[in-house]
Amino acid sequence: MPVDYHIHTKMCGHAVGELEEYVAAARQKGLREIGIADHIPMYFLPVGERDLSIAMKEEELPVYVQRVEEVQKKFSPYLIKLGLEADYIPGKEKELAALLRKYDFDYILGSIHFLDEWGFDNPDRIAGYEKRDLDELYELYFKTLGRAAASGLFDIMAHPDLIKKFGFRPDRDITGLYEQAVKTIAQSGVCIEVNTAGLRVPAGEIYPQTGFLEICHNYQVPVSLGSDAHRPELVGADFDKAVDLLKAIGYREIVTFSKRNKNFYPI
Ligand SMILES: [Zn+2]
Ligand SMILES: [Zn+2]
Repeated sequence: MPVDYHIHTKMCGHAVGELEEYVAAARQKGLREIGIADHIPMYFLPVGERDLSIAMKEEELPVYVQRVEEVQKKFSPYLIKLGLEADYIPGKEKELAALLRKYDFDYILGSIHFLDEWGFDNPDRIAGYEKRDLDELYELYFKTLGRAAASGLFDIMAHPDLIKKFGFRPDRDITGLYEQAVKTIAQSGVCIEVNTAGLRVPAGEIYPQTGFLEICHNYQVPVSLGSDAHRPELVGADFDKAVDLLKAIGYREIVTFSKRNKNFYPI
């Protein structure tokens, strides 16, 4: 079994289980390596407006890094990488870069969870879809994804078509939007994540959609694998399906990172 590079910890305020339990679950499932990538503090908002059920406090970030380093030592030589899932907010690149510079991460997952300050993947804010034109929304999402990739801040774009989470999809063909975003991702040397959490939400399919993944393969964009586990038992969830999909498209390897340098595992 390959690697799971998208694992959360209870420090984010909406995951459960001890870090050791996530590691134990990964080893039990035969994963060769894992990466912990909890949510970055909400650096893009004033301190008083940050939601602690979404992400840890800024002063907890060093504690997070220290906790991951502790389990790395405890379970050595089992490979546990230090990652972080960082929100991309256009215009806040400098603030993010300053925060990322403070620690020696193995990799940074780049995520779009907010569009114009709307947390579109938050079940509490699902009403926002009613007010939106889905064509415009998807266009904005995939443009922002391309911009995030081009920012140079991230190694991997996480759940690349998260905008489909609740099953709101435009009627028209959006292959052109995918193509544009993937082109920028490829030019920027960024990888994309195949994330199985999409199977557990109304979208009911892996992130990204098969058509998006085929374009990634055409552009030779490397892929990482992630469960987005917020509970230990979800580590490596549905990886058999993800690997089958990747193989069917023509992928033969999964990317891993050490101190932000790429490596590959065959699948
Ligand atoms: Zn989360
Ligand atoms: Zn995410």
